[in-house]
Amino acid sequence: VDLPADLERALVDAVGAEHVRPGTEEPGACVDWTGRFVGESPAVVRPADTEQVAAVLAACSAAGATVVPQGGNTGLVGGSVPLKGEIVLSLVRLRRLDDVDRSARQVTAGAGVTLGDLQQHARAAGFAYAVDLAARDTATVGGSVATNAGGVHVLRYGDTRRQLVGVEFALSDGRVVRHLSGLEKDNTGYDLAGLFCGSEGTLGVVTAARLRLVPRRAERVAALLAFAETADALAAAQAIRDRTPDLEAAELFFDDGMRLVCEAFSLTSPFADSSAVYLLIECAADDDPTTRLGSLIEETPASDAAVAHDHDRRLALWSYRELHTSAINTVGAPHKLDVTIPLDRMPAFATEIRARIGELGPGVRVWLFGHALDGNLHVNVTGLAPDDERVEELVFPLVVSLGGSISAEHGIGTAKKRWLHLARTQTEIEVFRAIKLALDPAGILNPNVLL
Ligand SMILES: Cc1cc2nc3c(=O)[nH]c(=O)nc-3n(C[C@H](O)[C@H](O)[C@H](O)COP(=O)(O)OP(=O)(O)OC[C@H]3O[C@@H](n4cnc5c(N)ncnc54)[C@H](O)[C@@H]3O)c2cc1C
Repeated sequence: VDLPADLERALVDAVGAEHVRPGTEEPGACVDWTGRFVGESPAVVRPADTEQVAAVLAACSAAGATVVPQGGNTGLVGGSVPLKGEIVLSLVRLRRLDDVDRSARQVTAGAGVTLGDLQQHARAAGFAYAVDLAARDTATVGGSVATNAGGVHVLRYGDTRRQLVGVEFALSDGRVVRHLSGLEKDNTGYDLAGLFCGSEGTLGVVTAARLRLVPRRAERVAALLAFAETADALAAAQAIRDRTPDLEAAELFFDDGMRLVCEAFSLTSPFADSSAVYLLIECAADDDPTTRLGSLIEETPASDAAVAHDHDRRLALWSYRELHTSAINTVGAPHKLDVTIPLDRMPAFATEIRARIGELGPGVRVWLFGHALDGNLHVNVTGLAPDDERVEELVFPLVVSLGGSISAEHGIGTAKKRWLHLARTQTEIEVFRAIKLALDPAGILNPNVLL
């Protein structure tokens, strides 16, 4: 795909020649994290600040060129890659990170700041940024706002939308909206930050966000518990949540995933015997929560438990869970179906989809893990061609019939847009289209995503 000479000149004027690169020289920007979605691009453009983003968009708009905004490119629904020859607008150089506003308990961060750097910045000021996920060192503030990322702390602090106080964004024609004052009470019309959160780059380009911080808890303990039944693991997580305000994470995975992670990364399970189901719990408090958690664990039907208080051993327990995504990629490019199921239906759902997906053919394998108390299961399926959508046809209607959602936290992207009608009414989708038309009338932003 070629870049028209006029547009190339305008882009170079906007950001400098060294930050306009042909897609052929930036293959990593054209393939998604799973390897399932591969495209090509005439140019990968990396502006340094909001004004440059606006200039790039104005130039693309004038030329009628389509654009895919891209942060860390860790999104899991194929929304961050140029599938039909779009220009990639990379936001990674927007690394503004203001001083923590202690009185407001907030911070303003540029779109390209990684979640890991934001967390560290908050920690240094005695706070924490609540959203945390395994891709923290690559995923960006802009991408997490655009996808309303969830992660492992939703049960205590909520998703990205709950942390978002204000947003700065550029519209497709280059106009900029700045609403970063951070007032906790500001009832002056439409909530544009809320609208942009989860808009997946279809309405405008997020250039900065004003984010809430939470208190930093000095003491942490993690525990990996083993169970014979999914229902027991979920009941244990609920019981611990009901008995302590310290609970910060409750992650679920299964024996096949544990074995795969151990094999792929040469790790050893902390347990001599394997179990069907594992629950990873983390508690955090101002004083050491280890004893409190210990007595709660004793009341669960866990057959085994490994408890870690010091930093390195806690991370070692977390690695069994956090390496799932990377381990699955070693089997093959997966179909990722991130769904929510009402908690009481999750055990039966897990059993049923294992059986049904197993029938799709030899070599088709399903890997399940997720955020237990959010009812959020990541259904990963390997052994299917990237465009073989039988598994989506099978799982999404089942999820909806059980009262769940076809996207818990990853968004719709390109991977799920065919099924949006299962989750939203015709009228809702018409409202979506009207909003899209109002903000991006020429439709240049992320044309393959959502609608
Ligand atoms: C190992 C691993 C673990 C993960 N765990 C979780 C998890 O627990 N919870 C969870 O919710 N997600 C998880 N994800 C998915 C992903 O990390 C998050 O969705 C993340 O927030 C995406 O950020 P990003 O910067 O990589 O965005 P990208 O992948 O670059 O983009 C994602 C979407 O946002 C759009 N976009 C990006 N930046 C902007 C911007 N500045 N303005 C407008 N639109 C933009 C893109 O066009 C695309 O549609 C995980 C991913 C990996 C690889």
